[in-house]
Amino acid sequence: MSKPYKITLEIKRYDPDTNLSWIQSYTVEVGGILRFVDVLRKINDEQDPTLAWASSCEHAQCGSCGIIVNGKPLLACELLVKDAIQQFKTNSFKLRPLTIAPVLRDLVVDLEKAYERVHKAKPYLIKPAPIPEEGDEYRISQEKLDTYIEATQCINCFCCATACISTHHHFIGPNAAMANIVRLMDPRETAKEERTEILYREDGVYRCHTSRACSFVCPKNIDVSHFLALGKEGRF
Ligand code: SF4
Ligand code: SF4
Repeated sequence: MSKPYKITLEIKRYDPDTNLSWIQSYTVEVGGILRFVDVLRKINDEQDPTLAWASSCEHAQCGSCGIIVNGKPLLACELLVKDAIQQFKTNSFKLRPLTIAPVLRDLVVDLEKAYERVHKAKPYLIKPAPIPEEGDEYRISQEKLDTYIEATQCINCFCCATACISTHHHFIGPNAAMANIVRLMDPRETAKEERTEILYREDGVYRCHTSRACSFVCPKNIDVSHFLALGKEGRF
């Protein structure tokens, strides 16, 4: 059994009924292999049932538990207490909601609002190529797939979009831009013209300053800025 740690979470609270916001501190004793979602649940169970936060799959697949811990956007279901202490070199953690969308309550943000950015990028095949006559499926070569498969692992957690300073200045955001680029790279997509219009418009990929913060924070280890660079260079 791992030894217990005493940690303090300073959490930004927000009550939409009163429109009041404040910082609330919770000190808990927890095992090192608990994840931050477990710690938040423990706080709900033992100290404060009113603290609101979001999660669903808790296996880093749904992207709903994104929060900012000591300035870094990450998934609360992935961060172990012992790793957080080692990574941030402290037992004290400041938890904030993602900044990509309005806060609904405490650590919960309006992901539907955030998703509006992704919808603008049309994250689907707008006009798929016809299925070849021989066989009943469209086959993509492994060589081609290898050039963009990494980008298809995106779970739209918006950690990159929160880390990206350009997102807050009329940029559609790294994950949304990448969602467009990946379908420009997909040989099944024939609506290339419509896609490049989306890519190069006012809120498009040229708003990216290549700071690489997106790649640094991505919990799926996607080199997001690499795909944005391909987009800027028109290398689909
Ligand atoms: S690119 Fe990475 S950080 Fe950005 S939304 Fe997708 S999974 Fe999250
Ligand atoms: S590389 Fe571009 S998209 Fe990524 S964080 Fe920097 S400015 Fe934002």
